[in-house]
Amino acid sequence: MNINTLRDDTPGTKNVIHFNNAGASLMPRVVTKNVINYLSKESQYGGYETADKNRKSIEQTYSTIGKFINAYPDEIALLENATAAWNMAFFSIYFSDGDRILTSKSEYASNYLSYLRLKEKVDIQIEVIPNDEHGQTSVTSLKKMMDKNVKLISITHIPTNSGLVNPVEKIGDIAQKYDCSYLVDACQSVGQYPVDVKKIGCDMLSATGRKYLRGPRGTGFLYVKRDQIENLLPPFIDLHAAKWTSEQEYKIRNDARRFENWEMNYAGIMGLQKAVEYANDIGINTIWKRVTKLAEKLRWQLAELPGVTVHDIGEIKGGIITFTVDSISAQEVKKNLSKKGINVSTSSKNSTLLDMQERNLSNLVRASVHYYNTESEIEQFCNAVKNVTKQ
Ligand SMILES: *Cc1c(COP(=O)(O)O)cnc(C)c1O
Repeated sequence: MNINTLRDDTPGTKNVIHFNNAGASLMPRVVTKNVINYLSKESQYGGYETADKNRKSIEQTYSTIGKFINAYPDEIALLENATAAWNMAFFSIYFSDGDRILTSKSEYASNYLSYLRLKEKVDIQIEVIPNDEHGQTSVTSLKKMMDKNVKLISITHIPTNSGLVNPVEKIGDIAQKYDCSYLVDACQSVGQYPVDVKKIGCDMLSATGRKYLRGPRGTGFLYVKRDQIENLLPPFIDLHAAKWTSEQEYKIRNDARRFENWEMNYAGIMGLQKAVEYANDIGINTIWKRVTKLAEKLRWQLAELPGVTVHDIGEIKGGIITFTVDSISAQEVKKNLSKKGINVSTSSKNSTLLDMQERNLSNLVRASVHYYNTESEIEQFCNAVKNVTKQ
């Protein structure tokens, strides 16, 4: 990995110290170029005509993403974000009264809101799997909770804060022993961690383009395992997902594109495709190694600063670091850092309510590193945080 070359590919690294990769990463130049080129063609030749002319490269996106997560192209659906992808999967499951949903302590707000929304219509049971001593979803507890009424195991792989990486592969082993569905929110892991849907053993997995994949905003995708597609009926379908065949009938597609809409942001998709290719060229194992190394360094250096507390959990930790500064709010820390050209974000209680409540936390500063960040940026970052603590 030649960090200088990778940074040269990333114009944003000249302007800011970007530690908000869990929010939206800086795009490499080739990604932005692909988006702009495509948009420009649309403006010059027409949107439909440009799509017709570029059909082959648009199609390529499905196999590029598929290859990246070890799936077939017909198992991929392109959607506008991870939430849309996740909801398409979740609301396609046929739930009946008495069904149980097992989920993680660190579940993302939007997913949990959907469980609650469903519960208003179907008498399901939402149950939270306890954490183990490392703070990750306990595989032992999950085993004990399993029975024939478990309809769905729904897990966030890497939560939006806290560094945690949940043991999705081990959870997959359990899911496969029972006749239940397994849905993984891989929003923070795809592009950072070597996500392999076969190794995870999940039926469905959702991801976004703009975070660790370094794609454009407003892009995302859903993976659905081939033999599960037929059992999953999307909550709404359009003329792309299904064919209207008679006054009383329709015929739905049999690939994952039944979860898509007809209208798409093709320019964004062209950018997403390039982003996945770019990550694939570097190699996801190389990326993961570098991200965890930088993150570990930042975590330790922050923890050593007086007045700073790091709040990360998990046996294995990824690129997301969360911390607080004594008597200075997370928002204030963010504002201060921003003045120095440093980007971070904050995590509120409401984004991972159960985890925050359990650990008695409310607002955290979230610094998330990517492979293109450097050790020198970590030094500068820690100095800046030190200055904040002295105010
Ligand atoms: C960001 C995030 C989401 C939502 O992704 P969108 O692309 O904004 O819909 C879902 N789950 C987790 C864990 C996230 O961090």
